[in-house]
Amino acid sequence: MPTFPNIIKSKLPKAGTTIFTIMSALANKHKAINLAQGFPDFACDSELVKLVNEAMKKGHNQYAPMPGYMPLREAIAEKNFDLYSAQYNPDTEITIMPGGTLAINATILALIHEGDEVIVIEPCYDSYVPSIIMAGGIPVYATMKTPGYQVDWNELKKLVNQHTRMIIINSPNNPTGQVISSSDMQKLEKLVAGTDIIVLSDEVYEHIIFDGFEHQSVSRFPKLAERSVIISSFGKTFHTTGWKIGYCLAPANLMVEIRKVYQFMVFSVHTPTQYAITEYIKNKDAYLQLGAFYQKKRDHFSILMESSRFKLLPCSGSYFQCAIYDKISDEGDRDFASRITEEIGVASIPISAFYHKGVDNKVLRFCFAKKEETLEKAAEKLSSL
Ligand code: GLN
Repeated sequence: MPTFPNIIKSKLPKAGTTIFTIMSALANKHKAINLAQGFPDFACDSELVKLVNEAMKKGHNQYAPMPGYMPLREAIAEKNFDLYSAQYNPDTEITIMPGGTLAINATILALIHEGDEVIVIEPCYDSYVPSIIMAGGIPVYATMKTPGYQVDWNELKKLVNQHTRMIIINSPNNPTGQVISSSDMQKLEKLVAGTDIIVLSDEVYEHIIFDGFEHQSVSRFPKLAERSVIISSFGKTFHTTGWKIGYCLAPANLMVEIRKVYQFMVFSVHTPTQYAITEYIKNKDAYLQLGAFYQKKRDHFSILMESSRFKLLPCSGSYFQCAIYDKISDEGDRDFASRITEEIGVASIPISAFYHKGVDNKVLRFCFAKKEETLEKAAEKLSSL
């Protein structure tokens, strides 16, 4: 196409293509095992597929209500009450949305104004900062230090001032696999008390938690919950990342604003999928057994990787395993991740992509939401390095 004279002023001048797209494309090009982008390589429950199919055949093929199919919202309210003793009103405080990333974006666009400061804790999922910038907000960076990747609440407190409007937390954490404890949550509660700071809590890996840890949803902490927006994802929980369906929980006064924005972004989510999940979610084992299911995979991968020169970092949740490769190479993490995709056929994510300044501690993230045989093949290749 001939190009129009350049009158475009970019909304996201610093953004390139996301690392997930880059690494998945590279994995496809080189027919590499893709432990990069976070998605399972095994099928979801065929029962779930059947339920979507049935919903379509029964004719549930028109728009769902903007905030979501009510019985699904009711089921989520019940699940959240059972797990975290928090009562969200399905009518005014729960909205079904097409995936966690959009829910985060809609929340930030709705609640952040020009010049508002938003604290993010790096390394962090790569959509937070672009969403803040799209809203005219200013990202302010706290850092989890390697190798423990714990939040330093004293450091974070120093970043708070009268312009701070939001703090984004994410546990279990992508990419580090770390989880926030109840003592962390108490520190956060103290820190925001008496301010007008909103907490955006990305809990999409809430059911993927290991070693007896309990997920500390902000909804367990009433003084935090009253100022928090929670994001969760059926894609992560039911092995259906391609269905792009998740939800958002927030007190009614916040949800009113989030819905005002959301309705003009997407309006509503795929109807038959909502009918299917409403049925499927009644089987509590589907999410209550998920931690044990993935813990086995984490352990399997970790034992296999003992014969490699990677040093695995602790992983208490999510389906990501971080590993340091400083005994193998001096290369930067992007170069190293690309080279091993091309040369040995295993794709990963370089952790520098989760820092605004590209901090490179020679750490790669491997997704272990894969069949045993995939993990075995990948570990064998990685052990050849
Ligand atoms: N959340 C997934 C990950 O971290 C992928 C999301 C995406 O591809 N945008 O790998």
